Amino acid sequence: MVVLRLALPTPMRRVFDYLPPAGLDPQTLVPGIRIRVPFGNRQLIGMLLDVSDHSEFPIHKLKAALEVLDATPPLPAHLMDLARWAASYYQHPIGDALAQALPVMLRKGNACEYAHEHLWRACEGAVPEDAGKQAKKQQAMLALLIKHPQGISTDAIRAEGYRPELLKPLEEKALAERFIHHPHHANSERTEDLLHEAPLTLNAQQRTALEAINNSDGFAPILLEGVTGSGKTEIYLQAIELQLSRGKQALVLVPEIGLTPQTVTRFKQRFNVPVVALHSNMSDRQRLDAWLDAREGEARIIIGTRSAIFTPMRAPGIIVVDEEHDASFKQQDGYRYSARDLAVLRAQREQVAVVLGSATPSLETLHNAQQGRYQWLRVTERAGKAKAPSFELLDTRHTHLQSGLSTPLIKRIGQALEKGTQALVFINRRGFSPTLSCHDCGWIADCNRCDANMTLHRSPPHLHCHHCDKQTPIPARCGNCGSDQLKPVGAGTERTEDTLQKLFPHIPVLRIDRDTTQRKDAMAKMMAQIHSGDPCILVGTQMLAKGHHFPKVTLVAILNADSGLFSADFRGMERTAQLILQVAGRAGRADHPGSVVMQTNQADHPTLQHLVQMGYYAFAQQELIQRQQAQLPPFTHYALVRAEANGSGRAEAFLRAIREQMETDILMPAGVRWLGPFPSPMEKRAGMHRAQMLIQGDNRRHLHQLLDTLTHYLEQTKEARKVRWSIDVDPVDTF
Ligand code: ADP
Ligand code: ZN
Ligand code: ZN
Repeated sequence: MVVLRLALPTPMRRVFDYLPPAGLDPQTLVPGIRIRVPFGNRQLIGMLLDVSDHSEFPIHKLKAALEVLDATPPLPAHLMDLARWAASYYQHPIGDALAQALPVMLRKGNACEYAHEHLWRACEGAVPEDAGKQAKKQQAMLALLIKHPQGISTDAIRAEGYRPELLKPLEEKALAERFIHHPHHANSERTEDLLHEAPLTLNAQQRTALEAINNSDGFAPILLEGVTGSGKTEIYLQAIELQLSRGKQALVLVPEIGLTPQTVTRFKQRFNVPVVALHSNMSDRQRLDAWLDAREGEARIIIGTRSAIFTPMRAPGIIVVDEEHDASFKQQDGYRYSARDLAVLRAQREQVAVVLGSATPSLETLHNAQQGRYQWLRVTERAGKAKAPSFELLDTRHTHLQSGLSTPLIKRIGQALEKGTQALVFINRRGFSPTLSCHDCGWIADCNRCDANMTLHRSPPHLHCHHCDKQTPIPARCGNCGSDQLKPVGAGTERTEDTLQKLFPHIPVLRIDRDTTQRKDAMAKMMAQIHSGDPCILVGTQMLAKGHHFPKVTLVAILNADSGLFSADFRGMERTAQLILQVAGRAGRADHPGSVVMQTNQADHPTLQHLVQMGYYAFAQQELIQRQQAQLPPFTHYALVRAEANGSGRAEAFLRAIREQMETDILMPAGVRWLGPFPSPMEKRAGMHRAQMLIQGDNRRHLHQLLDTLTHYLEQTKEARKVRWSIDVDPVDTF
């Protein structure tokens, strides 16, 4: 009796039993191979977890699988284990978790091999006359093949005006043959020299950090805390160089490749080895080829965003997570895994170093470093001639603002431009204005599907809800009193751009936000203009905060970062501090000294003062003490259960019922507490009413004991079919 235990991409948290396809040799059933099975009236591609000699289900009810797709598993066993571990840790259905570890083409059942096409060519020595005197058309076809010694596809043959049917008789006469062509060559020219360009000479701090990384042996989790502009990338490059010289590969995770094309360029410029970047602008085919290059060891450096954490490597040497604090490493819907945390686990399994780099490390990572779990390397000075920027708080409480800009700030921008340098203005809101309000009665244009205001956009003119994506025309009259006195209130990037353009009519103003970077090469174009070095003003959202190196920017102006100081989320302060320092870190990164001016209504806020005067490290120490006193992560562990339903109160009632039922049925594991349910901070979103419940555990093991039971309850409850629920383990925000 052979029973296949399969992980299938369904929302169900279980394994499915099937019988093998008829006539299959059981020896070929290696865990990890993909198998196509019938499922309801569809077919699914599953992954074989193991083979059993029995099933909990009556054998006669089991269906037979249709087809085995692989001779060997696409994913190496240890990555399959990692994906299984992640499914269990993040309480995600195993079939979907495993599917997400594969490139899309493999999920869809395509062969696990490089792109290839079938081409035709003439057999060696064949001449047209060989086709026979009577066969003029075959002769012509053969002549065509002879003209294409590299091979020609049937499509191309047809395009040349020939009938591919003529190939068959030629093949039978052994005059033409079909062969498989691989257009893909990752590794066409391999030379001895690894480097295109010489590495920079490191300063003392960089050298100490590099030596520590290079001297590590086996698994070594390392926090590289280096202020903005301290040359962390140079340290990565040289650490990777050592691994390459040993014949190893490197995996580099970055927050968003589209935003930092420079990173990829720097790797390609440095190394004379195949570098692949996995990003969202690639076709599924290109991704599979790149993935295979990584797996086969052809690609020596793999740069990718979050999902690249599951890319197999033949000879892993090092893993780098750049800007490790960035929230984008945590998937925020569906399968809510943290690629940063999985990177550490993966490094342990592959026995390599993992470098978590940031100027503003997450408190989790700092805590791990302080506890001695991670080696902690610090680079406190900027590299080369660059100096740390000066930082100034500009109190805006009693000043007049022109579209959010104070007079002293406008003056400072003017000065930066006069010096022939560039200014960067950060405002964390896109659109023209965050609200459209009635001057007569105070009505505000809000979204009827969300507890949120509609954002006013000018180009093109419309109202847009940034939470559910609803878009409407701009109303001519107030929805409450009918007045036509509707006024934009507050400023977003469009309005700031507008105002700055009016103030500085002869200077280009570049707006960088999600709306202006949608087009494929828009970002690259703006980057080119910035790097030309001519005076200009950059206006943008946190997109500007992500690791960019703008040598000519000397002034960074921060308009509205202080709102985060009062966030209901316990991470609000940490996020705000990271954002402020990352934006500030764009100032003065090269020869020109930089300054940062932050407009704020909270100039005496003690935390803000502390951050500005003492820097991130001191801020983080204080924040950690407060987290410890309040028993918040990283000193305890959180899981957030979210629920949403049609109709007010239903989601909350559902969570409450689950909690009450569990409280009567089971003993809470020690040190695990319920908090809530509460309505979510944004109670209504996209027409759904939302509630959430926090579960806090003093240790992970006990928390997970409860989560395993909880998931079971959630799945079994009938109510659960009318409510959408999800579990977020180690949530990065609690909204
Ligand atoms: P980070 O990633 O830490 O913000 P980067 O790696 O982007 O910093 O480095 C900032 C700038 O300093 C880059 O232009 C880089 O080429 C330069 N740099 C790095 N290390 C050195 C060095 N040892 N000597 C001179 N310049 C350096
Ligand atoms: Zn009104
Ligand atoms: Zn909405």
